[in-house]
Amino acid sequence: MVHVVEPRHSATLADYESIADLNGTVRSLRQEAESRLAGLDGRRLVMVNSTAQGGGVAEMLPALLALLRELGVDAHWLVMETQDHAFFRLTKHLHNLIHGMGDPNLGPDDRALYDRVSEENADAIEAFLSPGDVLVIHDPQPMGAGALLRDRADIAAIWRCHIGLDRETPQTRAAWDFLDPYATPYDHAIFTAPEYIPSCLAGRSTIIHPAIDPLSDKNRYLRVHELVGILANAALVKPWGPVTTPAFPEPAKRLQADGSWAPATEPEDFGLLFRPIVTQVSRWDRLKGFVPLMEGFVSLKLGLEARTDLDDQHQHALQLVRLVLAGPDPSSVDDDPEGKEVLAELCAAYDALPPHLQADIAMMSLPMSSKKNNALIVNALQLCSDVVAQNSIQEGFGLTVTEPMWKRAALMGSCAVGIRQQIRPDLDGLLVTDPEDPQEIAEALDTLLSDPVKRAAFGRSGRQRVHDNFLVFAQVKSWLELLTNTVAARWPRS
Ligand code: UDP
Repeated sequence: MVHVVEPRHSATLADYESIADLNGTVRSLRQEAESRLAGLDGRRLVMVNSTAQGGGVAEMLPALLALLRELGVDAHWLVMETQDHAFFRLTKHLHNLIHGMGDPNLGPDDRALYDRVSEENADAIEAFLSPGDVLVIHDPQPMGAGALLRDRADIAAIWRCHIGLDRETPQTRAAWDFLDPYATPYDHAIFTAPEYIPSCLAGRSTIIHPAIDPLSDKNRYLRVHELVGILANAALVKPWGPVTTPAFPEPAKRLQADGSWAPATEPEDFGLLFRPIVTQVSRWDRLKGFVPLMEGFVSLKLGLEARTDLDDQHQHALQLVRLVLAGPDPSSVDDDPEGKEVLAELCAAYDALPPHLQADIAMMSLPMSSKKNNALIVNALQLCSDVVAQNSIQEGFGLTVTEPMWKRAALMGSCAVGIRQQIRPDLDGLLVTDPEDPQEIAEALDTLLSDPVKRAAFGRSGRQRVHDNFLVFAQVKSWLELLTNTVAARWPRS
């Protein structure tokens, strides 16, 4: 089943242009578009992915499509949703294999299933296509359909892959062997990092980084009253006076000593507004490295008493610092048994800590029923954090790194590919080489917490890095370049 989705995005180019430090960027984007549009020849751009909601791709497409439209590109969005559970399981399996996980055995039945559903989807997508269109297919689910259409119709086809692993394993080999025949017809492919390009697409792939929208609720500037209002409305701070805005229908919750979840201001205000705060916000996924991050923080606190090397300010910061580990409300991940398992492991690790350490760590569950409120809460938490950690064992890119860098937080990241692409060590933050080594994590946190001047410098530099490379405007520019190059190669002018 395929349907058209209207990209809902309220900010216009003029809105971005009215922000002082974005003005030049938007003007240069307009100029770029002007010079590129002739090369597109009025052709339609048709993007296809497999979900209109949830996940990084659906999060990024509305702003990308809306900006391309405003710049004059005739851009459209189709969502291919399958009711076929076996196909869904197969594409999820392929997704995991590309990340190096799962059973590498794929058989003829899998191929037959993938081909059958791809045929059906190709027919459904074809009804929306016209000769001369540029079709952009996101990720493995619609890849087979796009390959069939490129063979059948007078179109150009680009495959955008949002996933990858930086090394070859039996799993990745199995996935790419399976996908190889569908890659062949495509004019071009796009990956997030050079390390992810498989040999079947080497030589005809481009890198485009994911990007954030600086006017989205997750990343926009919050004035102090709005920030404090959100924290109070979400039960992240206890207000000590009247609050103008009403409480969110669902509060952020904190894991309590008895294992229950209660509003995050229980059993006491956590100190988000006054204490040094280290935060990691992520899905409950083992690869996000939550457990070793907690262990690293605990090791930093436990080592405090024996230390003789600390000046007063540093010691005070280490005494006061608290850790927030936040992720989606567990009831919203009902269809994600792995997520539940990981959260249960983390809760057990928390439960095993002595009360004084439990008081210094907040396991937080963020409400997901309102996308807007969730985004505002993530924004507020990142803004309150002196250090934002992303201790991933593997990371495709990591918008949870881009978002706090934009907010001038100092970053503590791992060396996972996506994180290494963003954080320049000793410029925007620190990178730990082994995200499973609590001692190394403790040392990195200690260094960051010892020096507010260095943190501020990291914050400034990180913001500039995002400004120059990871805002939606850089993404749109790369797309314009790629689209015109693809059109020129596909339909050369005589
Ligand atoms: N996120 C969120 N609420 C949560 C946890 C995560 O909104 O409780 C967001 C986070 O802000 C980011 C996205 O989910 O925008 C995660 O993207 P990322 O690239 O970091 O990792 P992925 O989840 O795609 O592996």
